[in-house]
Amino acid sequence: MSRGGFPVVVAAPSGTGKTTVCRELVSRDAGLCFSVSHTTRRHRDGEVDGRDYHFVSQRDFQHLVDAEAFLEWAVYNGNRYGTSCQALETRLGEGLDVLLEIEVQGARQVRERRQDARLIFLLPPSSAALRARLTARGTDSAAEIDRRLEVARGELAAAPDFDYAVVNDDLQDCVSTLREILAAERSQQVRALRAACDPVEALARLHERDAATGGE
Ligand code: ADP
Ligand code: 5GP
Repeated sequence: MSRGGFPVVVAAPSGTGKTTVCRELVSRDAGLCFSVSHTTRRHRDGEVDGRDYHFVSQRDFQHLVDAEAFLEWAVYNGNRYGTSCQALETRLGEGLDVLLEIEVQGARQVRERRQDARLIFLLPPSSAALRARLTARGTDSAAEIDRRLEVARGELAAAPDFDYAVVNDDLQDCVSTLREILAAERSQQVRALRAACDPVEALARLHERDAATGGE
């Protein structure tokens, strides 16, 4: 029997290495795929519509919000981002686990709405390392880096709302830990199914029903 997949949320303060870790994780795991979000932000050089994001207008995004098409959505840096329920369900139905690389407000909505979601929070090894990564990435000005570090302090406070917190110090160690978490969660699902479909329990319940109704 093939299992339905489950959503895997990965969130982290900007610059922690979330994108780097998630790409490596998905490339090494055939049972895991990316959720492609909708966003109102402008697309950057190299990004492809439908692969990196579904780039939509404010108006189209609002239509989707009104139609309750999003499992979660949030405003980040003045732009709106959301995860479509339909796309998620389709991939889960194919038996794939689906990776949602999203920010913390969205992660909290998923926590409330999907009991089957597994939530992983990535931490930088230190604030100094976070600053060094944001600087090395070279995509933000000094002022923007200060602002992101300020936001990061608030985001770190969300870590206790997650199932797992993993430090992204050495990249390969971090990816290995995430792979271990997924392996354990997948086998837990099998265990839950086995418990729910245990033959001894099933027969006992049949006998109980027969006894209660007087049998044939
Ligand atoms: P995020 O998606 O969390 O904003 P990125 O994946 O863009 O972060 O990573 C930020 C920078 O840190 C990038 O330059 C990336 O190459 C680097 N980086 C990611 N993980 C590590 C790591 N474990 N050690 C050192 N540098 C890292
Ligand atoms: P970026 O604009 O750099 O691609 O993403 C900005 C932030 O939005 C990142 O933290 C990213 O993980 C987050 N994000 C991307 N897609 C979604 C989404 O569908 N929902 C939420 N809540 N956040 C998202």
